[in-house]
Amino acid sequence: MRAVDVLRAKRDGAELPAEAIFAFVRGATDGSWPAYQLAALLMAIVQRGMTPRETADLTAAMVHSGVKLDLGHLPGVKVDKHSTGGVGDKTSLVLAPLAAACGVVVPMMSGRGLGHSGGTLDKLESIPGFRVGLSLDEFRAALAEVGVALIGQTHEVAPADRTLYALRDVTATVESIPLITASILSKKIAEGIDALVMDVKCGSGAFMATRNEARLLARSIRDVAALNHLRSEAVITAMDYPLGHAVGNALEVAECVEVLRGGGPADTRELSLELAARMVFLGDRAATLPEARSRVREALDSGRGLEKFREIVVRQGGDVHVVDDPGKLPQAPHRRVVRADRGGVFHGFEAGRLGRACCVLGAGRERVEDAVDHAVGAVVLLERGSTVPAGEPLLELHYRDGDRLGQALEILRTDEPVGDRAPLVLEVLAEDRPTDE
Ligand code: URA
Repeated sequence: MRAVDVLRAKRDGAELPAEAIFAFVRGATDGSWPAYQLAALLMAIVQRGMTPRETADLTAAMVHSGVKLDLGHLPGVKVDKHSTGGVGDKTSLVLAPLAAACGVVVPMMSGRGLGHSGGTLDKLESIPGFRVGLSLDEFRAALAEVGVALIGQTHEVAPADRTLYALRDVTATVESIPLITASILSKKIAEGIDALVMDVKCGSGAFMATRNEARLLARSIRDVAALNHLRSEAVITAMDYPLGHAVGNALEVAECVEVLRGGGPADTRELSLELAARMVFLGDRAATLPEARSRVREALDSGRGLEKFREIVVRQGGDVHVVDDPGKLPQAPHRRVVRADRGGVFHGFEAGRLGRACCVLGAGRERVEDAVDHAVGAVVLLERGSTVPAGEPLLELHYRDGDRLGQALEILRTDEPVGDRAPLVLEVLAEDRPTDE
């Protein structure tokens, strides 16, 4: 099928046959379609959309562009969790060991942070020596031994996604539910899992700002996963404020260790437990979701989750001393406290803004090739909803460079983390009746 015919068909709103979609993905993988034709089709897909069947074919074609791992030698259901990305979103480091401690095999291929949202690989690499770049053979061996391994996407997995994602990034074609669905699911299916728990973040710090958009993405992922014979559950979770207290790589690892020790912020603990329970349920390690919740809770309370985390760190070459003493994680040389400029109710720092502030401190990257500074970031010092006097310390910035601190403070200056008590009634839709106005 000629590329120009495929482009014309999608431009005019046609549903593409599987062979056209496979030709497009083959063209992206072997270079036989030039970038301008790939980009033109991506834009046509953004404008015209795709049916679930087309999206399922796109997903299958992208899986087919590389290696699909066979984890059949490992007994049991293999389950992963994936998040669409947020600020302080660190649940993987808690739920992967918890689910594995309950007997689920967890092959987790994660990503790096981009823009204001963090990435699991950067967090793990703040543990000195931790290797996320295992080969597929090493990955399989670690899974057989420990039951869980956390690595980066290798070049063999869904190579078409790497080409297409790089093009989408520079052609304003990232924001498309079918393209996001196929991009995420192709990598997950290729890693050899049987089931997936999808955490679709919703709010100002997320890809999907509104509940409606998040619901459309969640439905698309669930439906296309089913068409590709992958069991899945999608959970929509709040991302208007950062999850937990810590934002920044080493700071987030320290918070995860705290949670695995039975402490830590309630929201990080609760969301990690809930997602882990869904993995345990999908992994057939509990007959009901309530039973899965109590198994995961028991793994946390007994310390088995923490022990599993220790095993992961040892198996992947990290310095296990950080598990007993998170003070051994990289530390930024300077701290700056941000205080309340008025008294009132602490509503929290808006996630997107705090994520961008941490990114300019060096915790995140603007472009994929940028390096990150594992030590820098921010710690929120209070629970949201607390009543505070003027001058109360709200946030501690961990920084290395004074210029970057200045830029971060400038970003935060437009936030109003303290205000009046939020009104309980947001809107009234009353009956039509004459008014005095
Ligand atoms: N994450 C991905 O892996 N792909 C997308 O397209 C968007 C988010």
